Amino acid sequence: MNLTCKQCGGEMRKRTISGGGGCFWFLIGITLFFAGIGLCLSGGGAIIGIPLALAGLFCGAKRRKVWRCKGCGCIVERA
Ligand SMILES: [Zn+2]
Repeated sequence: MNLTCKQCGGEMRKRTISGGGGCFWFLIGITLFFAGIGLCLSGGGAIIGIPLALAGLFCGAKRRKVWRCKGCGCIVERA
């Protein structure tokens, strides 16, 4: 099933875009990831470092499912 764009009447396509929480969460994710890796490499911090790095990856790699208009490029959230 396809949607029609409310703005230009164009065809909406299914898309998955990255950065679900926006730049903020992407930066948090990257920071957590490298902090976790740093803890692992420094030794003794692997127990905290590995979950931290995984949490960072999860935050940074969060994806959003959206409809994107072929005509005007506007984006609508998919449920
Ligand atoms: Zn459109």
